[in-house]
Amino acid sequence: MRMIVIGAGAIGCSVAFHLAREGASVTVVDPEGLRGGATLTSFAWLNCHDKSPEDYYRLVMRGNRAHRALGDEIGHANWLKLTGAVEWWPTGTEKAREHSARLDRLRSYGHQIETLGAEDVLALEPDVSRSSLEGCEAVFYPTDGAVDTAVYRHVLMREAERRAASLVEARVTDLLERSGRIAGVRLHDGRELEADHVVNCAGRASNPIGVCLGYSVPLEWKPGMTVITDLCRNNVSRVIKAPEIYIKPEGAGRLLLHAKSADQTLEDIHAPDAGKAGAEEIARLVETVLPAVRDVRIADVRITVRPYPIDGKPVFGTLPGVDGYHLAVTHSGISLGPLIGRAAAEEILHGKISTDFEDYRPTRFSQSIGN
Ligand SMILES: Cc1cc2nc3c(=O)[nH]c(=O)nc-3n(C[C@H](O)[C@H](O)[C@H](O)COP(=O)(O)OP(=O)(O)OC[C@H]3O[C@@H](n4cnc5c(N)ncnc54)[C@H](O)[C@@H]3O)c2cc1C
Repeated sequence: MRMIVIGAGAIGCSVAFHLAREGASVTVVDPEGLRGGATLTSFAWLNCHDKSPEDYYRLVMRGNRAHRALGDEIGHANWLKLTGAVEWWPTGTEKAREHSARLDRLRSYGHQIETLGAEDVLALEPDVSRSSLEGCEAVFYPTDGAVDTAVYRHVLMREAERRAASLVEARVTDLLERSGRIAGVRLHDGRELEADHVVNCAGRASNPIGVCLGYSVPLEWKPGMTVITDLCRNNVSRVIKAPEIYIKPEGAGRLLLHAKSADQTLEDIHAPDAGKAGAEEIARLVETVLPAVRDVRIADVRITVRPYPIDGKPVFGTLPGVDGYHLAVTHSGISLGPLIGRAAAEEILHGKISTDFEDYRPTRFSQSIGN
């Protein structure tokens, strides 16, 4: 079977790999190759702390476990760092009460959480300043992990290419419809690529591509940014979620940093200095947690708008009355990538409908169909 996957983000690469592994001939189309999309900007933490209700929490947990299984299958799974995560927050605040309710909920699901004292945090992460832990409660999540998304995309694409896949650097403008089914895509230069099935994994750009189908995923406007530092003095080994900043090792002495307050500085994401205020905020915040990271040089500022369905849950599957077409748009796409790839291969190649995604079909936004 000939497949076209639109978009080479975390979802598209996983879909391409799973389809190629099952013997399909796959063409992945993305104008940015493996450098585009929300995947480039992602913090890429494998966690499920804010996922509710319980069914959604369990889906994301399965996604996190599927990374491990995929890594074992492929070997050389060095995109995956399963070193857990530490988090702390000030006691006695409204936020602390929210954290406590969240931990109670997670524990009721059977989630592993270890309570830490300040000394335990420092034993795990010796660079953390003792003063940033004063008056705080801290926990360790042993089952959390982190993904190096550049390596992840590369490995999945390489493994797909070893079977029968190729990556075309071009922009899809339209879907081709023939005899009542989707039969391929049209590219920006007018070329047409034919296929038996098209999987639209273009993230936030999925809607304009599928406009001829009269369906669009209602998306929330949620810009986000991360920064990557230059080499700096640090020995961070896992995800750290301090009260105002998220910190992750990025290899070669660099750190990947994210802060919600920095996201809030993003008014016009296309302005030439769009990330400047946010990057300064992040550089200020990281010093409060890691004093050795003083006057850090920011090597890269990445900005995107998340592919965030309005209810925060994934959208995966077919559209009623449309043959030859699947759609996959989701937040938490790093966690869910391996599961979505597997489900796409099962549904498209074997006609086996995925139970994982039965509550997350495009039809739940039925008002968007046929408009
Ligand atoms: C700041 C931030 C932090 C995040 N943290 C996490 C986290 O900790 N854990 C987690 O699981 N998720 C996290 N996410 C969400 C996660 O990154 C996304 O859900 C995921 O990257 C989505 O992947 P995707 O492949 O669906 O989309 P994208 O990565 O956006 O990929 C879509 C691809 O489609 C291509 N494309 C667009 N238009 C076209 C076209 N016309 N033709 C062909 N190709 C096209 C783009 O170039 C792009 O490469 C975070 C996101 C952000 C922004």
